[in-house]
Amino acid sequence: MKAAVLEGIDSMVVKEVGTPEVTDDSLLLKVRSCAVCGSDIRIYHYGNPRVKYPQIVGHEIAGDVVEVGPKVKKFKQGDKVAIGADVPCGECPFCRDGLGNNCAINYAMGYQFPGGFAEYLLVDPLVINYGPIHKIPDNLSYDEATMAEPLACCINGLELSRVSLGDIVVVIGAGPVGCMLAELAKVMGARKVIISQRSKVRLELAKTFDIDVVISATEEDLTQRVMEETGGFGADVILTATSSVEVQTQAIPLVKRRGRINLFAGLPKGSPPLILDSNLLHYKEAFLFGSHGSVPRHHRMALELLSSGRITAQKYISHNFGLDQIMDAFKTVESRQGMKVIVNPN
Ligand SMILES: [Zn+2]
Ligand SMILES: [Zn+2]
Repeated sequence: MKAAVLEGIDSMVVKEVGTPEVTDDSLLLKVRSCAVCGSDIRIYHYGNPRVKYPQIVGHEIAGDVVEVGPKVKKFKQGDKVAIGADVPCGECPFCRDGLGNNCAINYAMGYQFPGGFAEYLLVDPLVINYGPIHKIPDNLSYDEATMAEPLACCINGLELSRVSLGDIVVVIGAGPVGCMLAELAKVMGARKVIISQRSKVRLELAKTFDIDVVISATEEDLTQRVMEETGGFGADVILTATSSVEVQTQAIPLVKRRGRINLFAGLPKGSPPLILDSNLLHYKEAFLFGSHGSVPRHHRMALELLSSGRITAQKYISHNFGLDQIMDAFKTVESRQGMKVIVNPN
C-alpha cells in the first residue's frame, strides 16, 4: 500500500510499504478521508515523545472496514466508520472513570498507533474495544465524518466551560476549531458569541458561520469591544483557540465576575510562562482552567451532532488533496488561508 511515512523531523516520504495483515482481534480500514490537524504539523516539525519513527500520522479518520479478525464482534466488513484521536488504555483509574484523555499512557491514533495518512490502517484491538471508533451516520460523507474528531475536542472544552443558556462567550482565534467552539456554544444556549481573529482571510471566513460578533484583532481593541458587547461586565466564558501566551494573557481580564476562562489551545514546547495578576481571578471569583482532547463518547456525540445538522461539517472543509500531495496539504494548513484540509488516500 501507499503511505506517507514520517521518518524524522521535517522528513515525510510517500512510498510503498507492506499492507498490514489482520490478526484475530484487529480490523483493516480502507482510509477514505483523513483531515490534517495542527498537531500533525507540529509532530512533523518538532517530533513528539509519543511518536517513534517511522510512523504514519493523522488522527481525523474515516473509511471502510474491509476485513475483520475472527474475534471482532463490534464491526463487520463493509461498515463505514470514523475514528478519533485519544485512545483510553481501559485499565488505569482515569480510563475506568471515563476520563481517557487524562490517561497517563495517553495512546492516540497517529502517535503510538499508526494513523490515517495511508491507503490502509490496521486498527488495534485496544482501539476497537475502548477507543473513539464509531459507525458513520448514513447522511454524512467520509470527509464530513472526519470533522467528528476536532468537534469532539470542542464538546469536551465546552462541557468543562459549563456553557449555559444566556451566556456570552468569547473565542479568541477563528481557525476551524475556534469557529466550531463558537457555533457549538450557540447550540448549547449561549445568547451571544464573539470571536476575534488577526488574519484577514479567516476573518472573512468567520463571518460565514453562525457567530454574532466578529472582531478584527489587528484593527480593533479586543478588550474595549468585549466590554462594549457585554455592558461592561465581561464575558461568562472565554476560550483561547490560538497557541499563544500573549492571547492567554489578553483573555483573562475579559472575564465576568464568576466567569470561566478555558485555555483550550495548548502552547508549543518552549513557550514563555504565563505571567498572571492573580487578583484578576481572586476578586472576580473567576475560574481559570484548560481542556485537551476528548473521550470516545464525545466522538460519538460529535457524529450525532453533525448528522443532525446542528453543526454543518461541509462548511469547515476548504481543501482536498490526494495522498501524493500530502506536503501541499500541510503547507495549506500552515498558510492559514483556509479551514480544514483533507487528504483522500483512496
Ligand atoms: Zn486533531
Ligand atoms: Zn488509561
